[in-house]
Amino acid sequence: MTKQPVLVLGPLMPYLLAELEKRYAIEKLYEEKDALKFLQENAGRFRAAVTSTFTGITADMIDLLPQVEIISSFGVGTDSLDVAYANTKGIRVANTPDVLNEDTANMALLLLLASTRDLVKNDRFVREGRWAKGENAPLASGIEGKRVGLVGLGRIGSVIAQKLLAFGCDVAYHTRNKKPDAPYTYYENLVELARDSAALIAILPGGDATQGVISREVLKALGPDGTFVNVARGTVVDEVALVELLQSGELGRAGLDVFADEPKVPEALFKLDNVVLQPHMGSATEETRRAMADRVVTNLEGYFAEKP
Ligand code: NDP
Repeated sequence: MTKQPVLVLGPLMPYLLAELEKRYAIEKLYEEKDALKFLQENAGRFRAAVTSTFTGITADMIDLLPQVEIISSFGVGTDSLDVAYANTKGIRVANTPDVLNEDTANMALLLLLASTRDLVKNDRFVREGRWAKGENAPLASGIEGKRVGLVGLGRIGSVIAQKLLAFGCDVAYHTRNKKPDAPYTYYENLVELARDSAALIAILPGGDATQGVISREVLKALGPDGTFVNVARGTVVDEVALVELLQSGELGRAGLDVFADEPKVPEALFKLDNVVLQPHMGSATEETRRAMADRVVTNLEGYFAEKP
């Protein structure tokens, strides 16, 4: 049987490429010297395209793929995918939710603990020989018994909440709609949640609708003893305000996995001891990335098998 042609828009992990290759005749747009020319000559052959949250897909690109019926994306975030435009053209867009909940939640907890306990700063303290010379590292900050505010309480936020309970935290949250089944304190007002919390964890989608939701006012309300953790998207926070407030001490600490203009990170953060930085690693374990890859494949297989 001839294999169905599938267009891969951007780089993918080798395991996923291999799984796709077993089933489909894949062609890699990102390896074409002249991608536009390639599309003009070949786009009509592809009923399916594979992308990722890192590569995304714009309305212009969708227009260049007139026969595509399904776009299968690696990742749960849809902020880099023009889903609304795809839907106007009757194109299905599939992502990889749920399988990354635990690892992304673990990253949130890691960043919360690492920043409040000065883990990276104290690692440097030991390596620089300061402990050996008799210096004492300053006391850090605990989280037990303290209120931690979640901005977003969906698939991943709910898992973070459960894990926070195991650390003895008092969980509260802010979303646009109160979750009737959630046993946590709801705040309609985000500034009030920040004011009442020792730490705020962002775990809501990116995109225009959430741009700068974590504003300067919210960060100021969190205050000099507060910690901000972002495992959502860099765009959800006013990054300029975040850097300034961390520099001035008006915000205590931060643990950041995501940034507004990745892979660029504001250089001012490199000099700060009160920040722990990660290169967007929330879902980046061998196990979870494979599970996400399997979802990309099953989403395509399901579509071609006419399953929901
Ligand atoms: P869900 O769609 O399950 O949950 C999103 C939550 O955000 C909902 O509770 C929603 O509630 C809330 N929300 C949406 N808009 C707003 C808003 N304007 N203000 C406050 N709350 C809002 O998503 P997931 O939990 O699966 O994933 C969340 C995001 O995490 C992804 O979109 C992705 O960007 C990011 N992510 C990051 C990873 C990383 O590597 N760092 C890995 C995986 C995901 P309501 O609609 O009631 O407002």
